[in-house]
Amino acid sequence: MRALSAVELLNVWDRGWSRPPYQQAQALLEAGCPDLSPQDIASLSIGQRDRRLLALRELTFGPRLAAVAVCPKCGIQLDIAFNTTDIEDDGWNDASGANEQHSVETDGYSVRFHLPTGADLAALEGAQTGEREMLQRCIVSAQRDGRPVEPAELPDHVVAAIAQCMAEADPQADVQLALTCPACAHAWQAPFDIVAFFWSEVDAWAKRTLREVHALASAYGWREADILALSPRRRQLYLDLVG
Ligand SMILES: [Zn+2]
Repeated sequence: MRALSAVELLNVWDRGWSRPPYQQAQALLEAGCPDLSPQDIASLSIGQRDRRLLALRELTFGPRLAAVAVCPKCGIQLDIAFNTTDIEDDGWNDASGANEQHSVETDGYSVRFHLPTGADLAALEGAQTGEREMLQRCIVSAQRDGRPVEPAELPDHVVAAIAQCMAEADPQADVQLALTCPACAHAWQAPFDIVAFFWSEVDAWAKRTLREVHALASAYGWREADILALSPRRRQLYLDLVG
């Protein structure tokens, strides 16, 4: 994995603009992980994918993450800041692929499944789906007392056991920030979505960069590629000169 250049970031932005989040994640990782094929990336579990996105974000924009949250009790807006290492799962094991199967045995039911991947999200795009549809897609085999059972016919408590097992096997897929309101001392957990966070940064960066290209191209007649090849410092100096 390596940091994305200005040209690569703009190409990713072009490709992922107005696309669903799983495609934006795929575009980012295809650019940042040239050692992985698109199929390799699509078959990462959501936690493995998000862990890589966190690393790519650190390489590209640095380790510091800043966001705003709203206290659900008193409504005050608070600025929150943390480092990528604060939300990395320590037990993350990159070697265990999403192809690895997991199993749940409960109440006479025996279910084998794989962890949800980007490819599963892609397959469900456009369908009216919820958590249950995603779980069913991930089931490799299901039996009750040794006889096959359709995934759709699994009772709720078995589905819940599968969901819990998936969450435990892929903790980086669901990052929760522990927040405390400075005004009313209310404590709560807020989900952190690296795909949405990283993409919003890429989007803001791309729009700012294209405005800079416009300003310098208008002033000097330079080509986009030449302006993007300037170091940020040299680009900023020329922008200052143009006023
Ligand atoms: Zn509060």
